[in-house]
Amino acid sequence: MLDCAIIGGGPAGLTAGLYTTRGGLANVVMYEKGMPGGQITQSSEIENYPGVTGEITGMELMMPWPEQCQRFGLKHEMVEVTRVSKSESGHFLIHKLDGTTEEALSVIVGTGSTPKKAGFVGEETFFGRGVSTCATCDGFFYKGKEVAVVGGGDTALEEALYLAKICAKVYLIHRREQFRAAPNTIERVKNSGNIELVLNAVPEEVYGDKMGVTGIRVKFQDGSTRNIDVPGVFTFVGYNVNNEVLKQDDGSFLCEVNAWGEVVVDISMRTNVHGLFAVGDMRIAAPKQVVCAAGDGATAALQAIAYVDEILNG
Ligand code: FAD
Ligand code: NAP
Repeated sequence: MLDCAIIGGGPAGLTAGLYTTRGGLANVVMYEKGMPGGQITQSSEIENYPGVTGEITGMELMMPWPEQCQRFGLKHEMVEVTRVSKSESGHFLIHKLDGTTEEALSVIVGTGSTPKKAGFVGEETFFGRGVSTCATCDGFFYKGKEVAVVGGGDTALEEALYLAKICAKVYLIHRREQFRAAPNTIERVKNSGNIELVLNAVPEEVYGDKMGVTGIRVKFQDGSTRNIDVPGVFTFVGYNVNNEVLKQDDGSFLCEVNAWGEVVVDISMRTNVHGLFAVGDMRIAAPKQVVCAAGDGATAALQAIAYVDEILNG
C-alpha cells in the first residue's frame, strides 16, 4: 500500500513528490509516462521562474528536479496510468497500462492540459519559433513589436488584452463575426486602442524563415486573403484537459470536474473526494505557469501528509 501515488511528473507532480517524501511519507511513487519534467521541457527559453536568471531552456530548468526528489526517497515508475478508482476497501486503486494495479491511501493527480492546434500550415514547424500558446510565457519576447492572436473565446481575448500592454499592436484573428468571450471582455478589447479585429478570417499559413515567423496569411469568407507581417502568432483555440485518468468505466469522473473538464479543487488543491488532490494546469482557474504548478504540488503534498497521518494515527 502506497502512502501517496502521484500521477504525472511535470513541475506539479515533481514538487508534490519532493514535499511528500521530505515531509515524512515513506512510500510515495510518481507515475510518469515519459521522462519527468512536463511540457516546459519543450520551451527553448524560460525567463519567469523566480530566482533563475540568465538564458535557460525548459529542459535545463527541469533537469535537477527528479534527482532532488529521489534524494528524499521518491520512487519513479515510467508507466502510463490509465485510471484511478476507489477499491472496495475505500482506498485508491491505480490502474497502469501494463495491466498491474497498486493501492494508495492518497493520490495527487497532475497530468496537465494540452492546448488544441488550430490546424494551419506552419503551426507545427514554427511552434516555439514564433508560434506560441502562452502569452505570459512568450509575450515579453515581442515587447514593442506587433503580434497576431488567433481565437475568439475568453482565453484569446484576455491574452490579446495582456499582449496589447506589452506589444505595439495586436491583430486579433477570428473566424466569425461574433466572439464567444464574455461581453465585458469584448468591450475592453474593442476599446483597447491597439487591437485590430480581423474578423471572418481563417488562418491559412504561418510563414517565415530560418530565424522564425515573419507573418500569417488569413483567408476571408469572400475568398480574399491578407498577409499580416508579424514575428509572433499566439493561438488560443481551446484546451484539452488531461483528465482521462479520472474517468471511470461508466463514463463518470471520480471527482467533480467543470464543464470544460477542469478538476474542481479548493484553495488547498482538495477535490470533493477525500484523499484525492489535483494540481497544476489541469485544475480550475490554473494560471498555467511552472511556478504556480510547483506551488500547487507543495500545497497538495502538505494536505496529503495530514490526510495520511489522520488515517494511520487517528
Ligand atoms: P505538465 O507540465 O503538462 O506535466 C504533466 C505530466 O503528466 C507530463 O509529463 C505527462 O507526460 C504526464 N502524464 C500525463 N498523463 C499521464 C498519465 N496518464 N500517466 C502518467 N503520466 C502522465 N510556464 C512558465 O511558467 N513560463 C514559461 O516561460 C512557459 N513557457 C512554456 C512554453 C511552452 C512551449 C509550453 C508548452 C509551456 C510553457 N509554460 C511556461 C507552461 C508550463 O509548461 C506549464 O504551466 C507547466 O508545465 C504545468 O505543469 P503541470 O505539472 O501541471 O503539467
Ligand atoms: P473556447 O471558448 O473553446 O474558444 C475557442 C475559440 O477558438 C473560439 O472562438 C473558436 O471559434 C476558435 N477556434 C476553435 N478552433 C479553431 C480553429 N481551428 N481555427 C481558428 N479558430 C478556432 O476556448 P477558450 O477561450 O480557451 O475557453 C475555454 C473555456 O474556458 C470557455 O468556456 C471560457 O469561457 C472559459 N474561460 C473563462 C475565462 C474567464 O471566465 N475569465 C477565461 C478563459 C477561459 P468559434 O467561436 O467560431 O467556435
